[in-house]
Amino acid sequence: MSVKVKVNKEACIGCGLCVGSYPDTFAFDDEGKATVVGELADADFDDAAGNCPVGAIEKE
Ligand code: SF4
Repeated sequence: MSVKVKVNKEACIGCGLCVGSYPDTFAFDDEGKATVVGELADADFDDAAGNCPVGAIEKE
């Protein structure tokens, strides 16, 4: 199962953790913030969201 996620761009500080860990799901946009490019495996959501230092990764 996979989950649709979104990034709160106001909160994102562009640390790159999510992009590095889940490149099929996150990429950098033109402003150096994370943007969603694909779905995330259900099992990876807690890891991705929990590791974001500003809590910017949320379920759609
Ligand atoms: S882990 Fe969080 S702060 Fe870092 S790039 Fe991803 S969404 Fe932005």
